[in-house]
Amino acid sequence: MPAAFTHQFDNALFKGTTTVNTGLFINGQFVDSVDGATIDVFDPTTGKVVTKVAAASAKDIDAAVKAAKTAYKTSWGLKTPGFERGRLLGKLADLVEKNIDELSALEALDGGKPFLHAKTMDLPGVIACLRYYAGWADKNFGKTIETTEAKFAYTRHEPIGVCGLIVPWNFPLLIATWKIGPALACGNTIILKPSEVTPLTALRFAELVTEAGFPAGVFNVLPGLGSVAGQAISEHQEIGKVSFTGSTVVGRKIMETAAKTNLKRVTLELGGKSPTIIFDDADLEQAIKWAAGGIFMHSGQVCAAGSRIFVQEGIYDKFVEIFKGAAQSFKRGDGFDPSVNQGPLVSQTQLERVLGYIEAGKREGATLQVGGARSGAEGYFVEPAIFTDVKPDMKIVREEIFGPVAVIVKFKTEEEVIALANDTVYGLSSNVFTQNINRALRVAHSLEAGSAYINQAAVPDFQVSFGGVKQSGFGKDMGEYALESYTQVKAVHVNLGQNL
Ligand code: NAD
Repeated sequence: MPAAFTHQFDNALFKGTTTVNTGLFINGQFVDSVDGATIDVFDPTTGKVVTKVAAASAKDIDAAVKAAKTAYKTSWGLKTPGFERGRLLGKLADLVEKNIDELSALEALDGGKPFLHAKTMDLPGVIACLRYYAGWADKNFGKTIETTEAKFAYTRHEPIGVCGLIVPWNFPLLIATWKIGPALACGNTIILKPSEVTPLTALRFAELVTEAGFPAGVFNVLPGLGSVAGQAISEHQEIGKVSFTGSTVVGRKIMETAAKTNLKRVTLELGGKSPTIIFDDADLEQAIKWAAGGIFMHSGQVCAAGSRIFVQEGIYDKFVEIFKGAAQSFKRGDGFDPSVNQGPLVSQTQLERVLGYIEAGKREGATLQVGGARSGAEGYFVEPAIFTDVKPDMKIVREEIFGPVAVIVKFKTEEEVIALANDTVYGLSSNVFTQNINRALRVAHSLEAGSAYINQAAVPDFQVSFGGVKQSGFGKDMGEYALESYTQVKAVHVNLGQNL
């Protein structure tokens, strides 16, 4: 019988007890991993272990795939009409809403993000996304194509079967839902592997899936190490698709493994080094607010973080001065304190990595304007850091840091800034600030990125596609486009006549 984690929250923002089953969720049951392996779960605010969860091996993944395949054939897929799939997704959304405080508290405990960020951004996003795809479940149809007078064809949007969803730790339940929503709406069954760093909300969510009434085996959650459980998902011959969000390094491995095994379909949402471009005529107050949130929110652990800030020369000095104040205004600490708006980095590894980049920036000759030091006696906190006087070949300009570290670059012309912004292997997102609508659109269209935000910074919307170009990956989460990722098109040709 797998263990459960019970935690008493007693603070100004949430008082309550949560119990999370810490086994693997396979075929509607929590079970231990076959080899008994577990992973420690840390609270990054204190650096202490709070519990441990079962860690899936390749054998556990195989058992879950068998259950998911059976469920697909017997009780889901095309056996359950789209309308019913949508009804269940809607019910699940209602249950998430009912448990929003508990899920937000778990997200805050496990990943370190402020409780209010989880409650006002992550969880509302989860609920909206589930409702949105509930609406799509009975509307994802093919086309009829009349090819000659006596012949026509129709296309069917069929589910793929068993989908493996591998997700990161920065928005654990939110990013999982961007994949769960369309996958289930289209009739697929799921093996979800949350990050080993933040498995708790996915496990609690699994109980809500059962409560909503989904048949056993439709949704399975298997925490585990990437190199073991993630690898087993990429290799599995019976998984028809992997949707992955995480680093470019791992994305590359998943694609290689898929190519070497069953050529499963792959969607990759990878890293970024996104530009925020601020022209002289921008509303400066707005631009600073968005640019600061865009890189320092969630301690910069955001794939679409605007980590390279390009500021036009006329406002550059003023911008740097005010932006320094904005960076210093973040209050770090326990995410259950209502006045805290910056949590810790998620792990010791991440802390060392980010501090390493800050040292590299100093070593390579950039000017550290503010911040950059470890903060607090416990936990993994880092002061927001701003570098100026950077060169295009510096590590802090080229590589994704995934921490609260901004580089600011002065530019003169629109043409110059487009070239600078596109000088990266990544292409996830981009932000443009100007009051000139023609320029805003011209620049947005010229940027090599999957999204461009005008007078705002990286606020994905469940109704709109999200995903990168270049080495930020391919395929889309969210919006109508995500349905394509979880459907395969079959063409059925009909001959009504006697002739060839
Ligand atoms: P990561 O790549 O280390 O891990 C992501 C997931 O992949 C985890 O569940 C991990 O266990 C698993 N994994 C690791 N090795 C694996 C392997 N060999 N085979 C299969 N799975 C494996 O990334 P992370 O540190 O969790 O997250 C940070 C990264 O994610 C950053 O690069 C960030 O930009 C990216 N990210 C991208 C998006 C996006 O939408 N583009 C969103 C969030 C995060």
